[in-house]
Amino acid sequence: MDRADVLVVGAGVSGLTTSVRLAEHGVRVLIRAEAAPADTNSAAAGAIWDPIYAEHPRVPAWAEASYKVFSRMALENFPGVRLVRGVEASRLPITSPGWARELPGFKECTTDELPAGFVHGWHYTAPIIDMPPYLAALQAMTLAYGAEMHFGERMTSLPDGFADAPIVVNCSGSGARHLVPDPTVQPIRGQLVAIKNPGHQEFFAEHTEQLGEMIYLLPQGDLLLLGGSAEEGIADPKPDPLVADAIMKRCGDIFPEIRTAEVVGHRGGIRPSRPVIRLEHENRGDRHIVHNYGHSGAGVSLSWGCADDVTEIVLGLLGR
Ligand SMILES: Cc1cc2nc3c(=O)[nH]c(=O)nc-3n(C[C@H](O)[C@H](O)[C@H](O)COP(=O)(O)OP(=O)(O)OC[C@H]3O[C@@H](n4cnc5c(N)ncnc54)[C@H](O)[C@@H]3O)c2cc1C
Repeated sequence: MDRADVLVVGAGVSGLTTSVRLAEHGVRVLIRAEAAPADTNSAAAGAIWDPIYAEHPRVPAWAEASYKVFSRMALENFPGVRLVRGVEASRLPITSPGWARELPGFKECTTDELPAGFVHGWHYTAPIIDMPPYLAALQAMTLAYGAEMHFGERMTSLPDGFADAPIVVNCSGSGARHLVPDPTVQPIRGQLVAIKNPGHQEFFAEHTEQLGEMIYLLPQGDLLLLGGSAEEGIADPKPDPLVADAIMKRCGDIFPEIRTAEVVGHRGGIRPSRPVIRLEHENRGDRHIVHNYGHSGAGVSLSWGCADDVTEIVLGLLGR
């Protein structure tokens, strides 16, 4: 490629989605990332579309835009993307949130549809994304648009990227803590257990306002992914056997068929927590940085909406 218009730092869901959108608009993209897509934290996610575990005034708009894109991808059989019906339920007598009521298939649960210990719940249909094949397909799409990718090197400063391009798009996830540097980015480790699916076709997700030891079951074909965990301040993504045992117990207490299911694997990753997602332009004279990081527990759910906003900023900077 001739000199790139934009250097995207990061090849997780934020970096790849943003690169696809930019490249679709004719922007020449170069990606640099320490971890290749399959080795990112994004690859460890479940992942279900859910607009609650990240903060920013534009979260509802980003979530809605992403829901639409995932729905279209599911219809077009894009690798890893499916629309799945399921139940979200709370142990507290809350009212169902407004965002849920607007979703396809929304219906309040009757008491006999709720597992023991849950007092309120609702059905809806949500995108569920099998991240490893999904990221591989996004990577292939980005390459097909002519983008270049270089993996395996950690950058120590964002302005170093100006050697590659006049605009640097920062999609470094939890890496932003040191790269920006931005001390408000905190790691929150999350963990999942993959078991042989004992027959669940629908998802189940415990509704909580905060990330924690909530229960969720995400069917991924022959696999059922069980969650979850949220360990604040832990930056080592390696799955912890004690956390895995606790996940199995919590899920098995509610769905007994899980107790005897074969465990197929474990996934661990770091959520890039930040008080508010950072999506903004930073002017560095005649050079520019556009930040897109800090998506905490909702980076997949918001990915297309955020990519659209970054693309709008970049196209403006390029005068297109
Ligand atoms: C167990 C678990 C379950 C989850 N479930 C869901 C879910 O159901 N739904 C949902 O929406 N979200 C979920 N999330 C959250 C979601 O996965 C994250 O918000 C999202 O993956 C963040 O993506 P990212 O691309 O910003 O960061 P990452 O995936 O971490 O990618 C960052 C990229 O930047 C690169 N990088 C970082 N620093 C540097 C540097 N200095 N130099 C060069 N490259 C660098 C990395 O190597 C990597 O390529 C879950 C997360 C976990 C861990």
